[in-house]
Amino acid sequence: MLLKVENLNTFYGNLHAIWDISLEVGESEIVALIGSNGAGKSTLLKTLAGGIPHHSGSILYRGEHIEGIRSDRLVRRGIVLCPEGRHVFPRMSVRENLKMGAYTRPKQEWAGSYDRVYGLFPRLAERKEQMAGTLSGGEQQMLAIGRALMSNPRLLMLDEPSLGLSPLLTEKIFELIQQIRDQGVTILLVEQNAVMALSIASRGYVLKNGHITTEGPGQELLNSQDILNSYLGGHA
Ligand code: ATP
Repeated sequence: MLLKVENLNTFYGNLHAIWDISLEVGESEIVALIGSNGAGKSTLLKTLAGGIPHHSGSILYRGEHIEGIRSDRLVRRGIVLCPEGRHVFPRMSVRENLKMGAYTRPKQEWAGSYDRVYGLFPRLAERKEQMAGTLSGGEQQMLAIGRALMSNPRLLMLDEPSLGLSPLLTEKIFELIQQIRDQGVTILLVEQNAVMALSIASRGYVLKNGHITTEGPGQELLNSQDILNSYLGGHA
């Protein structure tokens, strides 16, 4: 297993946000985390990425404990979170934004990383010198993912990559996520768009009020009437 989480608990002050969560992510898998607003999905990703402290439990990455390690150190070890809401630097160009993602890596490796990102996202290659703030929502999402890829992650955690995008762009982003997985990157994907997420995921976990209530192969969860009614709004 690339990532093995056991009995993880996270608090915000007195608020117990993550309750005894255990999950596994295998090498080159796409694993989906679904659940309604406030279920704890973002908190879980932030805890795994070293952004907020865990309270108890263990996080094993490639068999080694990584609890308590700062996020910049985790980035160097291949764990990267692409947070919800894009967060590109609006007054910097596309190329400068990408460069910010490469700061942990030796300069001689940057050229290859730019090539990889521009290969996946030709739209960004066409707009290298454009200010990021003038890009469309979909392009900004591509840039946020591209910037995360510049650090050459082994485990890429994506928080709501389809948020606010049109159905067409959402489909495009999901296609790209699969291409990134095909390049050997393991993906832990948080999504409101549970149908799409489970369609591309080998496995999924359902979160409710900070607990994992159901887990299973993506296809199995997609076919579960309970899940459809509770978390997917009955559509599908
Ligand atoms: P969403 O899709 O709306 O982001 P989520 O499943 O990602 O939902 P979280 O954002 O992880 O859920 O929130 C889990 C719980 O933690 C919620 O009760 C939320 O109000 C609370 N919470 C989130 N961030 C903070 C914070 N910075 N301080 C205090 N409580 C927080």
